[in-house]
Amino acid sequence: MTRNSIIYYSTNHKSPEVSFKEALLKGLAPDGGLYMPSVIPKIYKNELRGYFHLDYPEIANKVLKHFLSDEINDNDLKSICRDAYNFDVPIERVYNRNYILRLDQGPTASFKDFAARIMARLMHYFSSRDNLKFTILTATSGDTGSAVASAFHRLSNINVVILFPAGEVSETQRKQMTTLHDNVKVISLNGKFDDCQRLVKMAFRDELLSDIPLTSANSINIGRLLPQAVYYFYAWSRLANGMTDQAIFSVPSGNFGNLMGGIIAREMGLPVRKFIISTNANNEVPELLRTGIYRTISPSINCISSAMNVGHPGNLARIVALYGGMMNEEGTIVRNPEFIRMRDDFFGISISDEETRSTIASGYKKHGLILEPHGAVAWRGVEAYKKLSENSKNQLFVSLETAHPAKFGDELNRIPGLSVPVPESLAGLNDLKEEFTELENNYDNLRNYIRMLHNQ
Ligand SMILES: *Cc1c(COP(=O)(O)O)cnc(C)c1O
Repeated sequence: MTRNSIIYYSTNHKSPEVSFKEALLKGLAPDGGLYMPSVIPKIYKNELRGYFHLDYPEIANKVLKHFLSDEINDNDLKSICRDAYNFDVPIERVYNRNYILRLDQGPTASFKDFAARIMARLMHYFSSRDNLKFTILTATSGDTGSAVASAFHRLSNINVVILFPAGEVSETQRKQMTTLHDNVKVISLNGKFDDCQRLVKMAFRDELLSDIPLTSANSINIGRLLPQAVYYFYAWSRLANGMTDQAIFSVPSGNFGNLMGGIIAREMGLPVRKFIISTNANNEVPELLRTGIYRTISPSINCISSAMNVGHPGNLARIVALYGGMMNEEGTIVRNPEFIRMRDDFFGISISDEETRSTIASGYKKHGLILEPHGAVAWRGVEAYKKLSENSKNQLFVSLETAHPAKFGDELNRIPGLSVPVPESLAGLNDLKEEFTELENNYDNLRNYIRMLHNQ
């Protein structure tokens, strides 16, 4: 490896360090930990200044190159970024310097397209180069599944198996996965999202499946995390008043991959003043910040911002690691992170369903703003922060909208005067045939299913 190679370690520190390609194709480290880059490369002022004049795929190429230049040549990376980001990234001004970053214009109308489309193309790049065949196994609480399914659909040499919790995803979300067919196999599990995640983790560690190359596409995969740093750079490059203007981002959080992308961006040198961690009633992380004590929420609480119904976020161990601590996969803090520094960098807040609904209504009434529940949780986080902090008046606030409001038409169309236009990507799903398998919440069933698929 060359001088500037970045290697990837496991947050449990019991597996060997690996290259990006290995971390990408493995997903989870053999010791059950999550892969993290050994160093986070720095972007210097001159390069950052250049971002003011670049478009989204160009910024993606520049940011990702810092991590990948050893393992993929620049022209290939450029075309991967161009091909992945063939849609708009609108930024909407609400009032003064308060903005909504709409990450909902991809093919599945979810911010997860940003990560999944790069990850799929990188996996396909490495698998075609080395002539590998593998199965992607992933759990979804809503939008991951459709984004992953769409990103991998019809890529050669790759099968996709997606588990979703029966009854916890919307009909639209389900149809986005179950109407693709071909190499996309969908399982409805009689359980919660955390059960789906647990079963997927068991499969990765199952000796009896060791002959089947399995790869994860969850937000635990490092290949999904890195692309999520890019839109923070992009938003800042469109909105900042010069190089020292620090942004405050409000991130609607569930599994904390989105926030982790933002933290990586800041570590790379993006001027960020604070991250507002906005959760629904699953408030284990705001509580961790407040009390220094971590309690998982099991079973997770059902909220209308359903993609954030997570009682033990998969990426939390990474955040703890970046702040000098250690958390094992059960969620036990083995070594405390630096809470003082964390409290300085983050403002954590939990938003109830009632507050989410009233924010959707008041945002529309006051500003003509159309937000779905996840984006409303984030926006409410901005409002709460502004109430508590002085000097926030001229600050740059960017609140992330992570799904298209049309996916939550039932919620939004109740509001007088509001009717949500349906984007092309969601129209027409009702006419397509669905295909999925129902499984009981029991690991043996999943093992048998994977084996059967492999033997076909
Ligand atoms: C997945 C998802 C989230 C939560 O993102 P994390 O990276 O898991 O914190 C928020 N909103 C929507 C619409 C999502 O699909």
